[in-house]
Amino acid sequence: MRLSRFHLNTSKETPGDAEISSHRLMLRAGMIRKLAAGLYTWSPLGLRVLRKVEQVVREEMDRAGALEMTMPTVQPRELWEETGRWEKFGGQLLKIKDRKEAEYAYGPTAEEVITDFARQELRSYKQLPLNFYQIQTKFRDEIRPRFGVMRAREFLMKDAYSFHLDEASMAETYQAMYDAYTRIFERLGLKFRAVAADPGAIGGSASHEFHVLADSGEDAIAFSDKSQYAANVEMAEAIAPAAPRAAPAEEMRKVETPWQRTCEEVAKLLGIDLSRTVKSVALVGEQGFVLALVRGDHMVNEIKLAKLPGLAEYRLATEAEILEHLGSEPGFLGPVNPKKAIQVIADRSVAAMSDFVVGANEKGFHLAGVNWARDLPEAAIVADIRNVLAGDPSPDGQGTLTIGRGIEVGHVFQLGQKYAEAMGATVLDAEGKAQVMHMGCYGVGVSRIVAAAIEQNFDANGIIWPTPMAPWQIVVCVISAKGDTVVPAAAVELYEQLTARGIEACLDDRGLRPGGMFADMELIGIPHRVVVSERGLAAGSFEYRGRRDSESRQLSRDEVFALFS
Ligand code: ATP
Ligand code: MG
Repeated sequence: MRLSRFHLNTSKETPGDAEISSHRLMLRAGMIRKLAAGLYTWSPLGLRVLRKVEQVVREEMDRAGALEMTMPTVQPRELWEETGRWEKFGGQLLKIKDRKEAEYAYGPTAEEVITDFARQELRSYKQLPLNFYQIQTKFRDEIRPRFGVMRAREFLMKDAYSFHLDEASMAETYQAMYDAYTRIFERLGLKFRAVAADPGAIGGSASHEFHVLADSGEDAIAFSDKSQYAANVEMAEAIAPAAPRAAPAEEMRKVETPWQRTCEEVAKLLGIDLSRTVKSVALVGEQGFVLALVRGDHMVNEIKLAKLPGLAEYRLATEAEILEHLGSEPGFLGPVNPKKAIQVIADRSVAAMSDFVVGANEKGFHLAGVNWARDLPEAAIVADIRNVLAGDPSPDGQGTLTIGRGIEVGHVFQLGQKYAEAMGATVLDAEGKAQVMHMGCYGVGVSRIVAAAIEQNFDANGIIWPTPMAPWQIVVCVISAKGDTVVPAAAVELYEQLTARGIEACLDDRGLRPGGMFADMELIGIPHRVVVSERGLAAGSFEYRGRRDSESRQLSRDEVFALFS
């Protein structure tokens, strides 16, 4: 590409409303332009990068045996009614009407459309397994679109859906997709982790998210420093303390805490470590009032709580309910001597404590030196109900956990029969009996990857593309005096030789001063730069600088070509 015939529109100004580096740099490089909240135009420069990502995704999907197709973005309401998601999907679903008042959704995902396709196309188990994919625009009416294309409303996603006769086949394709995703992110040159995730609202049994690691990431991930273990903080298991519970050493006593309601305040007053206090959270579940206990320095994990029997739809107790069962107002609650019988759920670490501090169920008082069995019955349920902390042992027994931040760029799910069941997607098995198919679904945020890659690779001068994502691998810069034809001709020659070798080169023949030209090429992140100048030609060499280099060096023509061999 000759840049004199391309549309580059870079800017030195830092855009005011861009909060994170990738958003700022994509705007400054002129890769994207905002049309409206969460809606972006991709310029020719931006699109070159987007297409690179798309192509890697496509190649790896094809290699894994998935079949590319394309589905409409506008999807009839009736299909969404079949799965109950017309209502359940919530505010993210953009609903539209045609001139006949028929209702549609602009597709945020395509389980309904593909399941409709499958129930019409697939008849026999002999056709299975099949994995269909598309790389298609999606729309989600995000509450807070932000960070540019990172969390947009309209964005590009690769979505794949697989169909199976049984669970074993579903698990096999799931693993194949997991492996394909690993190859995609390795090929793109990104630092990433596959993390065990909560299947959540989409349902199903197994689920992993692929996260690009970056400090600006929205998700907290716990990962081991010694193994491949990684999980969303909500999902990571907090294992029981290795040491058995110590024998009681203190007598239980009431301590005055007139103004101290939080564990922090009480620990400070008593001059003890926060980890010796216990937080009591009052809940109401299916079987009534529940007191959940976690250590003062721990946080209750709502997802883990909701997985316990009777707590699937739990809520926080009201002040009246608390008064009725514990006889106190919040701030001084505890499991010792409740007014009415209550169920106590203790986190694993609380069950292992002795001589701890809890609320006394009396305004202005706490109890210290409390011990299980002696001062209160052992908890009815001991379970993992807290978030892990940095420094906790890794649940796989190898190393300790670090908490880092990640950007979700991919997600694989085992859906099971949820959609096929709701929509009657069956095939005949070997005995000629109709069987509801099992499904998997697999998403990659193609446009989000572009922003995520920048979050991981930039410096003060701009973007530093991993080579497979760069709009061009090398730029040939021309520095010549006005009226000179020798240097420009030599630059064109080098550019054409590179191109003929299959190297994606661009020629900066815009006639800018060196400073402005170099700043632009650094901003848009081209990995390699060679300068063709009168001085260099005389010496028979080119001035070369890699995007991460701090100094230039002289290379011969063959050495330039050798950069790409
Ligand atoms: P998030 O938790 O970030 O909202 P999600 O879990 O809702 O994402 P999925 O339904 O798993 O997303 O969609 C598959 C992929 O699409 C995600 O892994 C992500 O990379 C991408 N994606 C989802 N929402 C957006 C968005 N608003 N903008 C850009 N990419 C998105
Ligand atoms: Mg997801």
